[in-house]
Amino acid sequence: AHLARIDAVDEKVHAFLHVDREGALAQARAVDEKRARGEKLGPLAGVPLALKDIFTTEGVPTTVGSKILEGWIPPYDATVTKRLKAADVVILGKTNMDEFAMGSSTENSAYGPTGNPWDLTKIPGGSGGGSSAALAAFQTPLAIGTDTGGSIRQPAAVTGTVGVKPTYGAVSRFGMVAFSSSLDQGGPCARTVLDAALLHEVIAGHDPMDSTSIDAPVPPVVEAARNGSVAGMRVGVVKQFRGEGYQAGVIQRFDESVELLKELGAEIVELDCPSFDLGLSAYYLIAPSECSSNLARFDGLRYGLRIGDDGSRSAEEVTSLTREAGFGPEVKRRIMLGTYALSSGYYDAYYGSAQKVRTLITRDFEKAFEQVDVIVSPTTPTTAFAIGERVDDPMAMYLADLCTIPTNLAGNAAMSLPCGLAPEDNLPVGLQIIAPAMQDDRLYKVGAAVE
Ligand code: GLN
Repeated sequence: AHLARIDAVDEKVHAFLHVDREGALAQARAVDEKRARGEKLGPLAGVPLALKDIFTTEGVPTTVGSKILEGWIPPYDATVTKRLKAADVVILGKTNMDEFAMGSSTENSAYGPTGNPWDLTKIPGGSGGGSSAALAAFQTPLAIGTDTGGSIRQPAAVTGTVGVKPTYGAVSRFGMVAFSSSLDQGGPCARTVLDAALLHEVIAGHDPMDSTSIDAPVPPVVEAARNGSVAGMRVGVVKQFRGEGYQAGVIQRFDESVELLKELGAEIVELDCPSFDLGLSAYYLIAPSECSSNLARFDGLRYGLRIGDDGSRSAEEVTSLTREAGFGPEVKRRIMLGTYALSSGYYDAYYGSAQKVRTLITRDFEKAFEQVDVIVSPTTPTTAFAIGERVDDPMAMYLADLCTIPTNLAGNAAMSLPCGLAPEDNLPVGLQIIAPAMQDDRLYKVGAAVE
């Protein structure tokens, strides 16, 4: 049924880069056979899922939305892919994304944009717009995203779906193509809080193949999602998450959510987190710096695309021609920014300062969580903007992640879930819930209460 739905709508939505029809049917049949033999089934047996095209899938193309990996077929599964298969999930295919997860609209995909199913002329968010659009268009009940600065939560917000960025280190990065390794985190996307929790439990947990993977039990997210409540909880509202640049309808729905939390028995606490204002600037030094190092491996020799290798050119020339043709403009911009920020003589002024800001933001969170159990905010300052509206203005594009970035810098956990439509455009508004590191279950407890 989901493959048929994809056939019916994906020409318009363009959520998928690759539909693995045969693989999906084979996985579904394997589940049926297991059931017939009376074997124990995985926890999500037979449930279809759309996988962001940043996770390697053995025998199935993985492009990361880039021409530089066009035609590359990975020889191995990411840990997330492996865990999905072990849970008997049916992987429908790979979803569209901004190239190397750099963007907030999916317009930076080398394979064309994805439409927002609420209004196809609007962006579905980014970088994981394919996953969020597939959920909103009912092409899949579950999806996987990755969140470096907001790429799970911002797409969830603008498509009226649920997305969770778990605590950094909770979900293995092995086989997840690296953008900014100290920020990147995979996580669950779904249409309900409980669905997200069920998926969270399957993909999270320690992995010796990822040196930053946390070796501790996964917080009880499913139990929390089944027992939503905020009674007696202290909920923080941060002064810095409103003001100029926020759409009136977004603030209106957010304020109503805060009222609802009060009615349900939460105590609301006003918080001041002054360093949050510097989050965006710090992020746009740290993320490009790490990306300029991570993307050095795409040299035209090891993977995918290779241009000009006709025997007359040096390896260096082939690398240069391949990168020129294979990387899109935003990726090139980030590599240049990062290389500059890390270069000798500028390192302390740029990268060093950004790391100090990162520490200040972490301290703001620590202080905040001495006073409250969770923090709430709008997920994004505005609802979905029009395709094309911000492509020529990177600064405007970067603002989409104003509320999501502090969490990535500090490494704690956050969720976005729908909190109504903005009256001025009838488009979905996202409520963000933020919890301390390794307290991911609080997101689900609160999310389930207000859903
Ligand atoms: N939009 C942000 C960026 O372009 C975040 C991307 C992400 O989380 N992968 O870097």
